[in-house]
Amino acid sequence: MTTGRLTVLAGPTAVGKGTVAAYVRRFFPQVWLSVSMTTRRPRPAEIDGVHYHFVDDAEFDRLVSAGEFLEYAVVHGRAKYGTPRAPLERALREGQLALLEIDLQGARQVRATMPEALFVFLEPPSWEELVRRLVGRGTETSVEREVRLETARRELASVSEFDEVIVNDDVRRASEHLVSLMSSRQRDA
Ligand code: 5GP
Repeated sequence: MTTGRLTVLAGPTAVGKGTVAAYVRRFFPQVWLSVSMTTRRPRPAEIDGVHYHFVDDAEFDRLVSAGEFLEYAVVHGRAKYGTPRAPLERALREGQLALLEIDLQGARQVRATMPEALFVFLEPPSWEELVRRLVGRGTETSVEREVRLETARRELASVSEFDEVIVNDDVRRASEHLVSLMSSRQRDA
């Protein structure tokens, strides 16, 4: 299994990781994108099995006990998210370029078990822009937003733990940059 073909994309909340992942899913079919499990409810337009596997708390905990996750975390103190281990290992065995879009806690867990993966930090153009994106999304209550901002502040400070930094000023540019980093590593592997 070539874990050198694994890339982990992390970054502060609302920086646009999900948008970059969606762009990659649509325009770069050569990239295998992990589908996480979560206990949060689907947002409108989210499809079970495509954007996430939506499960309840008991099922999530069962999968944790069974060792089915490569990493998992409680994000924003609210819902559980985890990367299913088996599909990722299969993709890596097949030599695919694999991408995980996860939070910082998850990225740290992956670094502990798969240190030769490529760790990419997606950065906002500025703090003001990050706040604007967070408020603009309008899917959270003000209390949730405060929790997310606090998380984002901490997460921004962790940039030095990453191999590469991409500024998300434009989703297409950021996605192309990400895929080019992944592809050049594949050639090196
Ligand atoms: P959202 O609920 O807005 O889709 O995602 C919230 C946060 O959870 C994002 O920062 C996203 O990167 C993170 N996330 C999504 N899937 C996973 C996962 O499998 N593991 C971890 N640790 N974080 C995840």
